[in-house]
Amino acid sequence: MTRSHLRTCLTGVLLMVVGCSQQQWQAADPYGLMEAAYRQPFPVIDLDQPVASKTSDRAASLKARLARRRQARAAAVKTAKRHPWQATGKRTWTYIVIHHSAAEKGNARQFDLAHRKRGWDEMGYHFVITNGHGGSDGAVEVGSRWRKQKWGAHCGGTLNNEYNEHGIGICLVGDFSTALPSSTQRASLQKLVAYLARAYDIPLANIITHRDAPNAKTNCPGGRFHQYVHGPMKRVMAPDLADARRPPRQGVLATQR
Ligand SMILES: [Zn+2]
Repeated sequence: MTRSHLRTCLTGVLLMVVGCSQQQWQAADPYGLMEAAYRQPFPVIDLDQPVASKTSDRAASLKARLARRRQARAAAVKTAKRHPWQATGKRTWTYIVIHHSAAEKGNARQFDLAHRKRGWDEMGYHFVITNGHGGSDGAVEVGSRWRKQKWGAHCGGTLNNEYNEHGIGICLVGDFSTALPSSTQRASLQKLVAYLARAYDIPLANIITHRDAPNAKTNCPGGRFHQYVHGPMKRVMAPDLADARRPPRQGVLATQR
């Protein structure tokens, strides 16, 4: 083998190794969202099962095998379980609004009861992230509002009720004026926000806390947590969400803080 042959061969092997590097896969899914989605039970279909027919015609056998594969794929797509946070509907979501419950314990069921007592239709938030007191630490509870793709009841007082009409409300259980949510709650929040921002093309600037909304007369979600959302959390998420297609609504948000 000549020297130039050897060089070509080595370059080829190197390209194959780099091309399949695990780092690329990890970079494409930094929050493990796909991993979470694929942990759902999927029907197991063996696409490479040999065709039962023992026809001597090789071409016909290949055709049958391909048709079988196509059918199996279509069936897999049809019956695959949806991501637990995925919803079907046509509502336009423009903002993600983060809240705290300002109480040590709670869960979606308790908030639902409390909100109904106030005369509301049902729990005002779309998602609740529990803290180990009333629900396990970091569990994401999906409210029935989200499944129905219904407007929120968590961020009133804005022009045209904009932040309720188009804002996804996430409440973390706890009081975060001086303390931060648990690391498990923070990890769940980051996963949920990344999922929603990607799914609805919500830019980083429109990921806000309750007190950021115009005319909001509240401290929610507490000073410490507010700083965390706009500091460390967004810094980590920025490279990943930079490609959100919809531009931020500068006019609406310019008056905040
Ligand atoms: Zn709030």
